[in-house]
Amino acid sequence: MDKRERMIPIAKPYLTEEEAQAAYDTILTGWTTQGPKVQEFEEKFAAYTGVKYAVAVSNCTTALHLSMIVAGVGAGDEVICPSMSYIATANAIKYVGATPVFAEVQPESYNLSPVDAEKKITDKTKAILIVHQIGMPADIDAFKELSERYNLKLIEDAACAAGSAYKGKKIGSNSELVCFSFHPRKVISTGDGGMITTNREDYYRRLKLLRQHGMSVNDRVRHEANKVIFEDHVEVGYNYRMTDIQAAVGIKQLEKLDWIVSERRKVAATYNEAFKDLDFIRLPSEKEGYYSNYQSYSIYLKRDCPLDRNSLMQELLDKGIASRRGVMTSHRETAYKNIQGNINLPVSEDLQDNSIILPLYVPMKEDEVTHVIDSFFNILMAPRVLTY
Ligand SMILES: *Cc1c(COP(=O)(O)O)cnc(C)c1O
Repeated sequence: MDKRERMIPIAKPYLTEEEAQAAYDTILTGWTTQGPKVQEFEEKFAAYTGVKYAVAVSNCTTALHLSMIVAGVGAGDEVICPSMSYIATANAIKYVGATPVFAEVQPESYNLSPVDAEKKITDKTKAILIVHQIGMPADIDAFKELSERYNLKLIEDAACAAGSAYKGKKIGSNSELVCFSFHPRKVISTGDGGMITTNREDYYRRLKLLRQHGMSVNDRVRHEANKVIFEDHVEVGYNYRMTDIQAAVGIKQLEKLDWIVSERRKVAATYNEAFKDLDFIRLPSEKEGYYSNYQSYSIYLKRDCPLDRNSLMQELLDKGIASRRGVMTSHRETAYKNIQGNINLPVSEDLQDNSIILPLYVPMKEDEVTHVIDSFFNILMAPRVLTY
């Protein structure tokens, strides 16, 4: 058997003949870029998340960029966000000329700490950008309270959190601007793709302008009109469109989202149960009212773990199991070094250096889950020659 065939990957998108057929059918309609399928996907996504409006865009990074603009974030402003996130979180703040101010995360959830975020507020702070890291909701109520008390905008980077919920409400419906990703590494995928949810009509209208060159009348409306109409370009916009081919795939993916999440949660529960007595690791924990889609399953290796993280990753790989290091910290990437002088984020750094992400995808066969668990125990419980 080829080595790749035996490999258990870190993730796999759940895409079927149904999605392929939807893309095929859409191509044959001749309407391939933003059109009726995009509108249908938006309506269905808004209904799913329980909001009035959803705006489809090319990816979550562009969703975040447009959210910064409509929230009024601009040059000279500061936006508080976690460093521990995919780098696109911080980049979106830079795109509008603002400065990301990195705050610490909570060790148990990998999510922004409301306490540290409050400490980072200055006269220049305009917004807080929270992230529902690897699908686990952040403490939304604490950030709502904070943003109201200091008169700040609250924006959610829910790139990983489609299908997650907070206090009984789907992620997407808890604040004014929530951004999703449909990259293949997330729980549902349209290839690339993104979505912004909002209940504010003014935001909705402006987002729709900005994603399509600031055009006052979109091509679908012109196409369907029986009177000649001319468009105006009312402000400098972008081309951040999602295509109808992607949206057709997204509609099929959305129908499966709740099922995909429940399957992911079963695998996570199996891991949790298997590892629960290992004192030297910290498992993901879901507080009361929090509901994660387990976009990733990350565990933290404590000081007394018998093996260091990188060696564990290598030994898993030797057994045909892919893993990943913990979520990145943007302040340690070259692009952000020195952004705030020498910033000190010991919790985030420790989490990145000592966490490991294990394979989780749908469908993950029982023997694959068992192989990961058995290998994990075999590697960590093997007698070792001490090297000090
Ligand atoms: C993946 C991800 C993004 C970027 O999403 P794209 O759709 O690839 O642009 C942004 N933020 C977080 C937290 C992510 O995980």
